[in-house]
Amino acid sequence: MAKKGENREGIDLQCTECKEINYRSVKNKKNTTERLEIKKYCPKCKKSTVHKEKK
Ligand SMILES: [Zn+2]
Repeated sequence: MAKKGENREGIDLQCTECKEINYRSVKNKKNTTERLEIKKYCPKCKKSTVHKEKK
């Protein structure tokens, strides 16, 4: 059985405009070293904005 959760890290994706956390994601620490930056729809801004990983 594979061990679960060892290299995985839960992250919050925060809108860069209103600072609201709109999405949750999991990233693999081994494969992903750079900070995530994803364009997603923000319900608060009512448009697509850049969401960044928040630590
Ligand atoms: Zn926003």
